[in-house]
Order: sequence, then C-alpha cells, then structure tokens
Amino acid sequence: MAHYVGAKCRLCRREGEKLYLKGARCYTPKCPIDKRGAQPPGQHGKKMSRRPSSYGIQLREKQKVKRVYSVLEKQFRRYYKEAMKSPQNTGERLLQILESRLDNIVFRLGFTQSRSLARQLVTHGHIQVDGKKVDIPSYLVKPEQIISLSKKTPQIPSVKDALEQKITPPKWLSRKAILGRMERLPVRDEMNDGIKESLIIEYYSR
Ligand code: SF4
Repeated sequence: MAHYVGAKCRLCRREGEKLYLKGARCYTPKCPIDKRGAQPPGQHGKKMSRRPSSYGIQLREKQKVKRVYSVLEKQFRRYYKEAMKSPQNTGERLLQILESRLDNIVFRLGFTQSRSLARQLVTHGHIQVDGKKVDIPSYLVKPEQIISLSKKTPQIPSVKDALEQKITPPKWLSRKAILGRMERLPVRDEMNDGIKESLIIEYYSR
C-alpha cells in the first residue's frame, strides 16, 4: 500500500503543530517547530491571509489525522465508510480502526519510537501476529491477538533503543518483553485526544 515518503517535518509545518512523525527527534530541540515555531512550508513560510472557512478547518483536521497515521486518501475514505456501517459512534469507530492498524500497534507497544519505523519493521517482515509473519502495515489487529517481534529484531539499533525506553503501552494493550497483546479495542478517551473526529465526519458528510 502506498504511503507518503516526503519530508515529515514539512507535514507538521503544514498542519501548524507537532505531529510527532520522527520519533525521538521530535522530543529534542532539533524539532523545527520548537526552534522556529509553526511556520507553513515554503522558503519564507507563506502566512494565511484569511480566517479559514469551516470547510478549510474540516479539511485540515482530516489531513492531519491522515498524516499522523500515514494513510492516503483512498484508504482513509474506506475506513470512514467502514466506520459509517458500525452501530457505534462513527468518529470513535474511525479512530478505533486507525488504532488497530498493525503499524500503529507496533508503535503503541513501544517496539519503535515512531509509526514510520513501525511500518518499516512490518514491511520488512519483522512482525508476527499469532505466530505468523504479517508484512502488511494496514492489517487490522483484533482483540486477543498476539503481536511479537521476530527473534533477531531486538538487535536492530532503533528497536533496541525503543525497548530500552521501556515505554508503557496504553491500557488496551499489554506487553511482556517482545510479546504484545491487544486486550480489547480502545475507547474514545484512550485514543489520541488532540483529534477532533467530528470535523472529519462533517467533511465527508458534505
Ligand atoms: Fe514534526 Fe517531529 Fe519534525 Fe518536529 S521533529 S516537525 S514533531 S516530525
């Protein structure tokens, strides 16, 4: 599945906020947003001249979430349609689907410090689900499934670094060394609270 491979910091600058797309680097003074503030991309950082319309606000929120989870439009729209079919709140279901992606789970379990590194681990065949190799980042993990690193993966420097950080996974996941488990689906309060999913639903319902 295709995904965006351009400069990640540019995406944060476009959204005007830190999206934490580069792992450990995002927490250092090297982050351009911390250094220079949220300037829009471009040589001199074009300034927005007008107040954004409600359409513009909805569009930006959708773009932001796509960038956070590294999902392109076609797939994101598919997730939205799937969420619409659910008897649950559409916005909450949409976030649950995004959180259930294998690359996100690998990141949330603390096996890597960014989703992009998690994605690389998956595509390079380092991740197993219930003991079988799965190399599809968009694979949706289900409750009670076991996610594990293959034997030699903890020796990869970026994985070693992440494991040494001893990141505590969210409550809906559990982890012991290189074994993780999805205990249940996350509820809204346990998911990224910087997201205003109602804007995304409004965007697609126009
Ligand atoms: Fe975004 Fe991280 Fe780059 Fe900062 S360092 S702009 S948070 S990707």
